[in-house]
Amino acid sequence: MKTIETPVLICGGGGAGLSLSIFLSAHGIDNLLVERHTTTSHLPKAHYYNQRTMEIFREHGIADTIYERGTPFENMGCVVWMTSLSGDGPLDGKLLYKMDAFGGGKLEPIYDADSPTRSGNLPQMRLEPILREFAEKSPRAKVLFGHELMRFEQDDAGVTSVVKNLETGEEFEVRSQYLCGADRGRTINPKLGIELQGPSNLVDMVSTHMTADLSKYITDDSPLIRWFANPEGGSGWGSGVMVAMGPKKFDRHSEEWVFHFAFQPNDPDFNEGDIVPRIRHLLRIPDLDIKVHKVSHWIVEAVLADKYRGGRCLILGDAAHRHPPTTGLGLNSGIQDAHNLAWKLAAVLKGQAGDGLLDSYEQERRPVAARNTRWALMTFMNHVVTDAGFGLIPGAPPELNAFQITTLMSDTDEGEWFRARADEVVGTQRMEFQAHDMELGFRYDGNAVVPDGTEPPPRGRMGDIYTPTTRPGHRLPHAWLEKGGTRLSTHDLCGRGRFVLITGAKGDAWKAAAKAAAERYGVPVDVVCVGAPGQPEDRSNTWSKLRQVEEEGAILVRPDVHVGWRCARSPSDTAVALSDALGKILSKTKGSR
Ligand SMILES: Cc1cc2nc3c(=O)[nH]c(=O)nc-3n(C[C@H](O)[C@H](O)[C@H](O)COP(=O)(O)OP(=O)(O)OC[C@H]3O[C@@H](n4cnc5c(N)ncnc54)[C@H](O)[C@@H]3O)c2cc1C
Repeated sequence: MKTIETPVLICGGGGAGLSLSIFLSAHGIDNLLVERHTTTSHLPKAHYYNQRTMEIFREHGIADTIYERGTPFENMGCVVWMTSLSGDGPLDGKLLYKMDAFGGGKLEPIYDADSPTRSGNLPQMRLEPILREFAEKSPRAKVLFGHELMRFEQDDAGVTSVVKNLETGEEFEVRSQYLCGADRGRTINPKLGIELQGPSNLVDMVSTHMTADLSKYITDDSPLIRWFANPEGGSGWGSGVMVAMGPKKFDRHSEEWVFHFAFQPNDPDFNEGDIVPRIRHLLRIPDLDIKVHKVSHWIVEAVLADKYRGGRCLILGDAAHRHPPTTGLGLNSGIQDAHNLAWKLAAVLKGQAGDGLLDSYEQERRPVAARNTRWALMTFMNHVVTDAGFGLIPGAPPELNAFQITTLMSDTDEGEWFRARADEVVGTQRMEFQAHDMELGFRYDGNAVVPDGTEPPPRGRMGDIYTPTTRPGHRLPHAWLEKGGTRLSTHDLCGRGRFVLITGAKGDAWKAAAKAAAERYGVPVDVVCVGAPGQPEDRSNTWSKLRQVEEEGAILVRPDVHVGWRCARSPSDTAVALSDALGKILSKTKGSR
């Protein structure tokens, strides 16, 4: 049997696996990706990419393609709840509630201040070909679709896998130093004894991807998501949710749409043939011409892997965590797992870091996934609360719920009261659509972070209020700086495989320290003295308000743009302080190289 050697074998060519390949290649690490399907997924699946993910895509030159092909920002700044899209009944076509979302509307200045990127939206079935193209164009990566990982064994020095070409039936061996499972837990988890724990089989989500011309029924192009709430079906998942799929337009002229309906798992009354009539009835467009592309089922669960690593095998994406789509944290988490893992694998493979750095992957990403999983489940379930916010009573006769909706929309005292209640109660769904802190405010603890004894900033309980901080473990705050007439983000100073030490105009003492630490560990450590001649300037003083260290202090930013260590002011021996910190982050013991 022929043998291919590669430092990293990636199993699975979904969003997480393809991202890992791109990021590893960018770190100069050869990798082989095998995906059993011959093409990327045809299912619409996820679509929303939060600012952190877009920052990562920006670092890798992918963001602009997503913005070009995806939903224009003016078509994704809010979500609405409506009774139906059309119809001439007294309760038809009514807007019940509109909420700013994903950084749009009143959120815009806040989101714009906190990140150099805006969030993005593009159906996963259109994102994955972009990721595949980016992965394939690197000479570092070999991307084999139509190839399945059949089995593997690991020893102290590496992993031996057997991969099958599904077209020819030929099997070959792959010898890698690491095996990464981005396979939704199908092949690698069972062998490693990894268990996904948590509630499963909660809901059967049925997604219908279709072509239909809705242009004459839509009057507002701004919502990304339209939730339907009506006296017969309640609201939210049960009643139906609609998202524009493009591909050319994402407003009322969107050529394609996806509808999600929630069913009981294994519902004996489920009949796929009922879906199209149900969509027509829900929209109140009885003669709507619908061409269905695909009806797919997706079992909603909220599960987390009990471990992320078994020796030389590591898992990421849906192999490690699966949860409801609410708050859109699923694929985002998978891409962010890949980003966290890639620089660590690269540092270990290049001999810059000890094996302990790989342990920090689980220490950092698993608690984030644990929080995301529970949050997504809560925001999913909260759609029952939004029902109540409109006055809809579960199980009540449609006439009673029709009375409730009529009251909600009436020009009466009761109408005012109902609307005030809706503002308060439906407003809680901002935990899903304005989850700015869930998206940017997570932090890492563990081996690869050197704590400085400070407490993290308080987190808003609704997940919406993000407080930037340079405290070790947190994502580096964004601030716009200027260099040579060009605007650049603090994030632009970092990433791309380097450690970066950010200091002030008087931070010269750090340069020699960084050079010595870089030589000692064999890693690039750039120094940026903000405000020094020829260096980026903080003309707006935004960075000086965010940096939380003095002019002579320093912030060591890891290659994933999270702070690894900071020093509030210049220590007596900058070289020792920096070298110790870098050594700890890299899991290198003192004196080792
Ligand atoms: C039907 C469906 C609908 C969804 N809808 C939404 C949604 O509306 N909103 C949302 O936020 N999220 C949604 N999700 C979740 C979101 O799509 C996932 O979080 C995301 O796809 C995870 O990416 P991944 O790369 O980790 O896994 P996946 O995308 O599942 O990719 C895993 C890949 O591994 C491959 N593979 C498995 N075993 C092997 C093997 N032995 N050899 C080679 N290849 C292998 C598979 O073929 C697959 O392509 C949906 C998921 C599904 C399944």
